[in-house]
Amino acid sequence: TAARVCVVGNAAIDLSVQVNALPLPGETVLAVESRSDFGGKGANQAVVAARAGAETQLFAALGCDADGDRILARLIDDGVNTQNVVRLSCASDLSIVTVDARGENTIVTRNTAAADYRPDLHTLLDATHAGDWIVQQGNLSAPVTAEVLDTARRKQRRTLLNPGPVRFDCRPMLAHVDILVVNQVEAAALTALDNPAHAAAALHDAGAREVLITLGAQGVLWCDEHGARLAAAVRAQAIDTVGAGDAFCGTLVAALAQNLTMPIALRWALSVAASSVTRRGSQASFPDRATMRDLRNASADAE
Ligand code: ATP
Repeated sequence: TAARVCVVGNAAIDLSVQVNALPLPGETVLAVESRSDFGGKGANQAVVAARAGAETQLFAALGCDADGDRILARLIDDGVNTQNVVRLSCASDLSIVTVDARGENTIVTRNTAAADYRPDLHTLLDATHAGDWIVQQGNLSAPVTAEVLDTARRKQRRTLLNPGPVRFDCRPMLAHVDILVVNQVEAAALTALDNPAHAAAALHDAGAREVLITLGAQGVLWCDEHGARLAAAVRAQAIDTVGAGDAFCGTLVAALAQNLTMPIALRWALSVAASSVTRRGSQASFPDRATMRDLRNASADAE
């Protein structure tokens, strides 16, 4: 039988504006283009896992506002179980990304809901079984993240940690992590090692059972007790890589929950991530359920 996926993280609105030049202090500039999308690494990964066919729930905090209502409706529409999405008396989280003509950007982010969120551990255990996957990112506080990992591991849940955006040192938590997913920059920041193979080995030695370092257009380095090997990326015409890491993580964990082998899970996750870089936006760039199924079948056939 399939295991279930439980994401413990954040949900947000992503507002992106394109300008010719970034505004200076006191200056007003016109947006050339703007778009609003659903984002937040937790919600992104939950939506991808649900579209990949896993029974998926999200533990997260939204504000008591219209953005919170919109985010909740979208998650439900995507088939994510939102029974444990709570509403706090603050605004929902928001990221404003301003990109200039050269691709340079500034980001202003409000993360009050995620910063104040403390999931109830009894509820988390009631909502999951041994063998289910508990997935976390780096948006909740370090103590909350550590506590969830520790509880999950003691109660035989499987854990995936994707600690971006790196706001705290997750190395002390790695003994409770089954799969660590980091990008190249995060791997170097955590280990002070620029060579991804060396960084992966160090993170494995620090306690993570399996380490996956995503390498953008090169693919992903997979390291476990047998050493490190490269799974090549699927070729894509990249126009916007926002959310690619989330597309990768959400698909990977959904694949493992559905008992696919790691090589097939990796191929599927790489193909979904490649598909997401060909479209703009966060959740707007993720493939729909039918496309996910096609990509899964193609990944399994390639065996
Ligand atoms: P982001 O923060 O932009 O979501 P990231 O920095 O966490 O992504 P990356 O390593 O840049 O992570 O990308 C994640 C995965 O997305 C890669 O492992 C790869 O599978 C896919 N990907 C990213 N860029 C490309 C590309 N140009 N072509 C094909 N696949 C890509």
